[in-house]
Amino acid sequence: MENLTNIGVIKELFERHGFSFSKTLGQNFLVNPAVCPKIAELGNARKGFGVIEIGTGVGVLTHELAKRADKVTAIEIDERLIPILRETLAEHNNVRIINEDVMNVDLNALIKEDFGGLEVAVCANLPYYITSPIIMMLLESRLPITSVTVMVQKEAAQRLCAELGTREVGAVSVCVRYFSEPEILFNVSRGSFMPPPNVDSCVIRLNVRKEIPWEVTDEKKFFKVVRGAFSQRRKTMANSLSSALSLDKSYVTSVLEECGLSPSVRPEQLKMEDFIAVSERIVLI
Ligand code: SAM
Repeated sequence: MENLTNIGVIKELFERHGFSFSKTLGQNFLVNPAVCPKIAELGNARKGFGVIEIGTGVGVLTHELAKRADKVTAIEIDERLIPILRETLAEHNNVRIINEDVMNVDLNALIKEDFGGLEVAVCANLPYYITSPIIMMLLESRLPITSVTVMVQKEAAQRLCAELGTREVGAVSVCVRYFSEPEILFNVSRGSFMPPPNVDSCVIRLNVRKEIPWEVTDEKKFFKVVRGAFSQRRKTMANSLSSALSLDKSYVTSVLEECGLSPSVRPEQLKMEDFIAVSERIVLI
């Protein structure tokens, strides 16, 4: 089915299947015909690749991925969309649909089962209510994937792709940069969706690092320190870390000084090496 960006075609499908949008599942479907081909092309959907898609809607992006990649496995939580997808994706014999919450899928096992011998990429127009948890789950699971190319809210894109040492940085920016090299690809206006969301969107690509270029003894502790550092907006490292990690402020201050950092430094000012130095030295209770 070629015309999944045509509002008339979508409405007819919905009427026939008795489907209506769910706000809580973040269902804003793409109807701008220029966007999905661009996501597929920039998202590594091509020969030699298997693609995992998260949240298919009516299959508008799935269709573009299936045309280009060797295989597509698409995960959609809403069971009401499954009969629609059987119809809209009928022409593709390289698509597997899984009706499941992506947070409950063992993606390492899925990749082994579905994509033996292929490189793997993730592409999605993500449901905005769960953007960061999905991205962190994808990166922290250390999946053997090349890239994560996703549409997210514009503000989330700026945060996810923020350079360390800039105002926009948050804990998620540090985690994203630890596992990948992020880039902002292009903006998408709210009018490109049905129904239109209240915000503009942006497509980003996280180029997953094959090897982490830093040495971290205890990654769990490192992420705890990073999250603690950003736990209170606009507070100093000494204040945020001591309250988030239940440590004495004078002890945190001495650790920061040993790392060559002023106790009044803010997490937005730190480089990756600074976060690592603090997490290597600090003793948590
Ligand atoms: N890819 C389609 C498009 O671009 O038109 C739909 C994108 S829509 C923003 C997000 C989709 O993710 C919806 O179809 C929604 O039902 C699905 N979804 C929401 N939460 C999900 C979850 N936890 N796991 C899998 N799919 C989810």
